[in-house]
Amino acid sequence: MTTDSENAGTKVVHQYGNVCRRVDKAVSEADQGRKDVTLVAVSKTFSSDVIRPVLKAGHRVFGENRVQEAEGKWPLLSEEFSDVELHLIGPLQTNKTANAVQLFDTIETLDRPKLARSIAAELKKNPKPIELFVQVNTGAESQKAGILKEDLGEFLDYCRQELGLPITGLMCIPPVSEDPSKHFSLLASLARANALANLSMGMSADFAEAIRCGATHVRIGTAIFGNR
Ligand SMILES: *Cc1c(COP(=O)(O)O)cnc(C)c1O
Repeated sequence: MTTDSENAGTKVVHQYGNVCRRVDKAVSEADQGRKDVTLVAVSKTFSSDVIRPVLKAGHRVFGENRVQEAEGKWPLLSEEFSDVELHLIGPLQTNKTANAVQLFDTIETLDRPKLARSIAAELKKNPKPIELFVQVNTGAESQKAGILKEDLGEFLDYCRQELGLPITGLMCIPPVSEDPSKHFSLLASLARANALANLSMGMSADFAEAIRCGATHVRIGTAIFGNR
């Protein structure tokens, strides 16, 4: 007898395997002597029971978009499975900075000076290894978070020189109604111009294109876990 949750787990592991193969294929086709692309499995809205089979299958890098939700799941899962690497991929309010810095290994959504100061203050109080990506609003959408491309150089100077923050990459979420490849290419050129190694771009619908454009991290939820 198998239970429903075991069946759901089998399905998710199967979909995870498919995504891994599709990522590998896109990496080999992109053929720029590329190193591996990190698959950030986006587990937001899914319960520990759905996430656990993917951990058992050996995956360790996960993305969550809300601090509070992640705090409800990941401390226990990280006790069960060693070496979990958690990425924050959603907006961060400064009143949650301390919790976020404590829980996450990478914060991909650094998007304003006030948050940069708040993270710097927290790291000074409680130092820990962490990586920060700056979110860039590549489509200059008024409702979307992120630094405008015109302001990126100045923001990076402030974060790195004045605050000493460990910034290692850029992240973007292209406008839904546009061809994402032009946004991926823009982000890649901004990363090159600013000597940043990591590029987080590409989701379930467009990760192969993102990898072609140089993504080092793809954030994939639906294709692994199903519809939210
Ligand atoms: C939810 C989310 C994803 C994953 O999107 P899917 O289409 O489900 O793969 C990626 N990035 C961010 C910032 C998200 O919020």
